[in-house]
Amino acid sequence: MEFLPLFHNLRGALVLVVGGGEIALRKSRLLADAGAVLRVVAPEIGTELRELIDRSGGEQILRGYSQADLTGCVLIIAATDDEPLNAQVSADARQRGVPVNVVDAPALCSVIFPAIVDRSPLVIAVSSGGDAPVLARLIRAKMESWIPPTYGHLAGLAARFRHQVKNLFPNVQQRRAFWEEVFQGPIADRQLAGQGAEAERLLQAKIDGEPPAATGEVYLVGAGPGDPDLLTFKALRLMQQADVVLYDRLVAPAILELCRRDADRIYVGKQRADHAVPQDQINQQLVVLAKQGKRVVRLKGGDPFIFGRGGEEIEELAAHGIPFQVVPGITAASGCAAYAGIPLTHRDHAQSVRFVTGHLKDGTTDLPWKDLVSPAQTLVFYMGLIGLPIICSELIKHGRSADTPAALIQQGTTTNQRVFTGTLANLPQLVAEHEVHAPTLVIVGEVVMLREKLAWFEGAQASV
Ligand code: SAH
Repeated sequence: MEFLPLFHNLRGALVLVVGGGEIALRKSRLLADAGAVLRVVAPEIGTELRELIDRSGGEQILRGYSQADLTGCVLIIAATDDEPLNAQVSADARQRGVPVNVVDAPALCSVIFPAIVDRSPLVIAVSSGGDAPVLARLIRAKMESWIPPTYGHLAGLAARFRHQVKNLFPNVQQRRAFWEEVFQGPIADRQLAGQGAEAERLLQAKIDGEPPAATGEVYLVGAGPGDPDLLTFKALRLMQQADVVLYDRLVAPAILELCRRDADRIYVGKQRADHAVPQDQINQQLVVLAKQGKRVVRLKGGDPFIFGRGGEEIEELAAHGIPFQVVPGITAASGCAAYAGIPLTHRDHAQSVRFVTGHLKDGTTDLPWKDLVSPAQTLVFYMGLIGLPIICSELIKHGRSADTPAALIQQGTTTNQRVFTGTLANLPQLVAEHEVHAPTLVIVGEVVMLREKLAWFEGAQASV
């Protein structure tokens, strides 16, 4: 091991920073976050750095470095672009036995800055010993993505109960087992979901020896339109901890693959004419599984609250007092529009956008057509393929020009994405010509023209 990682208590301690530029500022920010008092010496010091120095209760010395500046400092940072000066600072510090860091010169350092994941009070430091800082940063980025931002709150929870637990279990092993259960079970889930009071109540009950409630939890998770890269961190985290996954046809196989390997997967169908499991049975199934103590992910295409019946499913859960969380997803409109190069609003073309269901009840025309034809408005039809001839003819009949540009986006955001553009007049014809099938999104409005300039994503796409 080239460097021993130690965490340094700098509260109220004087730290010398030599240099007044951008790099000095970056290091000073970290030092100030850790409560250090900054002494910065440089002929010129930027405004932001000056403010930081003031806030830290420190001092700015507007001249070149002098050895005397080291006096009283517990840590020295050389952050200038003057190599001989950096080397001088390093030598002076070492001579006095004070830890020194020279930015971007590992050989001159007695201490180095790691890449940091800050979930205070939990802090993770990663270092490559100065050999490959980019590698350390990449690892850091990975950790940032899978450790929830509120993870540090678990440490706070533990701190509040530490004494009680210590009294209860004088034996270290028992204590460790107790905390392992807490940090990986429903108590941690509550805390991470922002329900601190409930987490405390459950932890107290556990300490008091009450048997844990058998109730599991349901996560209603938006899986986005298809590209697995469009999942949120939270969706992925919950998918990887759930015991059971209920999914329907809109959820791409590549996304399902990201669920925990040993989780039970239950297919519940749900597509036009393929109601493998009727909605009320799905609602019921969620309740039954949760009551067995399972953590259940209900995975939905796009966003669960946009034409996803997510509301109905959690109404049932709420009625049974089952805890649930809702994780938004990228809805088909956002995903498909972005991947087709069609901005849904634009200062010159559309001041508003409307998400409309094209699933016409019994083939009748029960949409508010008059509202849908107002100008400078983009319309996005979900489930609009079957009703498309009616949709186009009604829009034209109620006053939207037959020349209005329109697009069909099939399997948007996936490698199978196909995009066809035309007008309200010929859109139904394009469906037949190109054998367009579900899932397909329909976008109507002048913004569709922008695709000519803005298309960027090459799936198996075609444009007409
Ligand atoms: N909750 C989902 C929508 C469910 S309704 C969401 O927020 O996206 C189902 C309809 O969504 C489909 O009929 C289709 O119109 C649209 N859709 C969903 N995913 C799509 C995709 N990848 N490409 C094109 N359309 C999609």
